[in-house]
Amino acid sequence: MHKEIQLTTPNKKVGSVIIPKGIVLHDTEWFDLDGVIEIFQSEDTLASAHLLIDLDGTRYVFGEDYEKLYHAGYSIFKGRKWCNNFMLGVEFLGHTEQKPLTEDQINSFREWVSSRFLDYDLEVSDITTHKKIRTDYINEFGDKDGIIKAKRDISDIEFKKVIDSLFV
Ligand SMILES: [Zn+2]
Repeated sequence: MHKEIQLTTPNKKVGSVIIPKGIVLHDTEWFDLDGVIEIFQSEDTLASAHLLIDLDGTRYVFGEDYEKLYHAGYSIFKGRKWCNNFMLGVEFLGHTEQKPLTEDQINSFREWVSSRFLDYDLEVSDITTHKKIRTDYINEFGDKDGIIKAKRDISDIEFKKVIDSLFV
């Protein structure tokens, strides 16, 4: 089992309670663990995630599953807008377009997610990427003010690896 460390973040909607219907995978596009933690813990960055997984598989938890943390922004999943209202956010440290996830990261995610399939009655198809839910939003509603960042996030190849690992 990988280590799990409890932290906090101010970047959440205090008082909102969510019922998780899915999980959004992200990558940080940055290899600086302390830097990411600092951003997640700084007021007004509006950046956080329920979980940050370090290269060695250590899990940093920033909030309870029922808390509404800010990770998805403009987004749509299975016809429902605003994914922060009903999805958990998982950040992998790193830049998956440049370097693959580590085995520890993938195994750590599997450990974390296994009980949640039962707890929230989730299926593998309820796991998606930030890129997909953001792109689907833009395709449906546009980005007329140009405010939806074109940041890339977890690569399709690494996402597929994570999903495939759940079936072995
Ligand atoms: Zn993201």
